[in-house]
Amino acid sequence: MKTYFMLIAAFLLSGQTIMAQVHAMPSLKYSYSALEPYIDAQTMEIHYSKHHQAYLNNLTKALAGTKAEKIALEDLLIAAEKRGAVIRNNGGGHYNHSLFWEILSPEPSKVPQGQLAVAINKTFTSLDSLKKLMNNGAMTRFGSGWVWLYVKPDKSLAVSSTANQDNPIMDAAGKERGIPILGIDVWEHAYYLKYQNKRADYLGAIWNVLDWKAVGANYEKALKDPLLKVIEKDTWQELKDFHMVMGQTFHPMEEGNLKPIKERSAEMLAKAQLLASSTPPVSFSSDAIRKAVADLVSGAANLDKLVKKKAKDEKIIADLTKLHDTFHVIQGLCSDDH
Ligand code: MN
Repeated sequence: MKTYFMLIAAFLLSGQTIMAQVHAMPSLKYSYSALEPYIDAQTMEIHYSKHHQAYLNNLTKALAGTKAEKIALEDLLIAAEKRGAVIRNNGGGHYNHSLFWEILSPEPSKVPQGQLAVAINKTFTSLDSLKKLMNNGAMTRFGSGWVWLYVKPDKSLAVSSTANQDNPIMDAAGKERGIPILGIDVWEHAYYLKYQNKRADYLGAIWNVLDWKAVGANYEKALKDPLLKVIEKDTWQELKDFHMVMGQTFHPMEEGNLKPIKERSAEMLAKAQLLASSTPPVSFSSDAIRKAVADLVSGAANLDKLVKKKAKDEKIIADLTKLHDTFHVIQGLCSDDH
């Protein structure tokens, strides 16, 4: 009996631990006053324990009891626009601030080393011109937002700025997508107590506590991160458009409802043709993908013909199932190779 209770207790405890670890505050590796005089203790304390904590609390509350509760933060952010403002703002807020604390240090490495140094010089010619570019992005960001150094799907570096709590992982970032390795918070809550309206002074100061060793570690991690490929696939709009029609016709069919595919077979064919005429992202530009896309067009054309001549349901089910398999060859190839 006692063992039984202990097992239940252990199960509950471990369950709670796992849930708590899905989204949690990162611990600060330094005290609130450690970044003085560049960032004052009161700003740090409010920023970390009130602002960041609030993003996390709101995210946790929004996810509670939903299917999205177990989805990794990065995977939530990729579809941030689709998931709505609460997840976008608070998921972004939690991710962005977690990155921010990690790249600040009271004892920072002042210059990039190794691979990162090479990449910065190659892309921006020098560290100084990178800083200038980022400061300019931060100064011209109207209202609240962030400026980023990020790794693009082709593994090159780029600078961008986003509004509010958006970041380059998000669908909302348009064409400027990738994995951020350095972010500067330009919300007034990050600097107002000490610098008031003088954003430029804050930007001048923050580089003194920017730890390039941490940024370098982020860079090397990002280069190997499978998330890059996921982001790249997500930028293939024609694939996403086809996916949507497939999802909205195939899944009802699985439940015995053929109305959606009968109404939308021509649209499916049109989306397949658009996919075939689109330029796939660089790492999907292979013969295998090209062949699968061609199969998708001929399969969708056959299916559309069947629907138009009012073929038997069994025929339509068989063809749509085959088409769905072909589509997943592309999805599979997209995410598995490399
Ligand atoms: Mn902030």
